Amino acid sequence: MIVLCLLLATAVVTSAAGDEPPKRRLFVILDAVPFQVAADVMDPALGDEALFEGFKGPTRLVSTFPSSTSTALPGILGPIGLRRSPGYEARFFDWQEGKVRGGGAISYGRIEFPWREFFDWGRKGPAGSAIEAVKPIKSGIKRLRNAVDDFVQSDKDEFWIYIAATDIAGHVINPDAVKEFFKALDEILLEARQASPERPFDVVVFSDHGMDGGEPLINVWKPVKKALKAGGYRYKKRLKSPQVVVLTPFGLVSNFEAYTEEEAKGPVAEILAGVEGVDLCAYELEEGWRIESHRGSATLHQDEHDGELWWSYEPHDGDPLEFLDEMAEMEQAGLVREGWLPDEACFDATVEAENPDAFYRIVHAFQLVTNPASVICSVGRGYMYGAPRTSFMAKLGKGRLRWTHGALNREATLGFLFSDVEDWQAPDAVRFDRAILPFHDAKEIEPGAVASGQPR
Ligand SMILES: [Zn+2]
Repeated sequence: MIVLCLLLATAVVTSAAGDEPPKRRLFVILDAVPFQVAADVMDPALGDEALFEGFKGPTRLVSTFPSSTSTALPGILGPIGLRRSPGYEARFFDWQEGKVRGGGAISYGRIEFPWREFFDWGRKGPAGSAIEAVKPIKSGIKRLRNAVDDFVQSDKDEFWIYIAATDIAGHVINPDAVKEFFKALDEILLEARQASPERPFDVVVFSDHGMDGGEPLINVWKPVKKALKAGGYRYKKRLKSPQVVVLTPFGLVSNFEAYTEEEAKGPVAEILAGVEGVDLCAYELEEGWRIESHRGSATLHQDEHDGELWWSYEPHDGDPLEFLDEMAEMEQAGLVREGWLPDEACFDATVEAENPDAFYRIVHAFQLVTNPASVICSVGRGYMYGAPRTSFMAKLGKGRLRWTHGALNREATLGFLFSDVEDWQAPDAVRFDRAILPFHDAKEIEPGAVASGQPR
């Protein structure tokens, strides 16, 4: 009893003197966990059963387009120094070399994707081990436990853990399978706090994007090739003439890219947007961006004035981004200035829309990788794109794929963020490139700098 009193007295004195050491900070990134799954396990209506007591959130984390890791992680962590990926997926078109690269077991180690090296505990090897694919939740929990043990024993002030198993579980089982993982995470965090009371820490947990599906997904890969051929284009791995289109099918995802010569972008986008199952395609104009879809086409412009970002959305026929109602509401609210829409209002109006934050995300789709697409497309709900033979997911032998991400739509897009960092208030939603700034100082990216972790 005396010992306890002494300890308490000391604690009061130290904190009163204000020389308490700053808390350590643990970042846990769970690949591909939708906002709704986090919201379900943290629902206050669950009472004692609710997970993550003392945490604030979850906040909707509005991911990048494509809603996939190789763009989302640099999108979220770019403001604190993570460099861009060379392509949207492991297999991509290299503009400098003029050919398709990557996607094989050997090139995995040769082509640098800086995000893979960013974390203290990250991804090892091309697609995880066999056990990870068969029992993703079980092996993911095991990895998480080891990772948190490492954090407890390390003397680092901040520690980053990235878990890929949640993505695999979402694809091959369903996103709700991750609830079991959340339960384990909650327990592991409590145990870690009990194991190191003298070194308190706070925690930031987030995912990089969501997951969409439910029914067996229909692959648009063959219809896409067929439509291009019917339109007079040839599909090749090198870009040799305006009649050639380079495609880079790899995983089974709900977005895809075409690489073409400049003058072919428009006609190719129109052809691709006309394929059944393709929701919309976009490409950069000399000024602005063009969107093609079966709902019509539109031109998008961006401008900065008064220190703020503004948008103009001009539909030519139809309303491809389904934004006319929102625009009318903004007009009525007096937010529109000579046809220009304020960025902040566009974000707020579309967080829960079918395609959240579409303007900003489409524009950034051409900026988030070092080899941007000529035309980028979002696949409609119920569809996917990829070459089944090269796909890791297709080799799992669990039948047809029902869940994936990459598209612009809400379910594929909305990740989550929650935290117990003391002075943070959880907003309803946050855009990818602002999500991390309340928890970490911004950091300029040094050109040519080597990402943290092992140099290759
Ligand atoms: Zn995935």
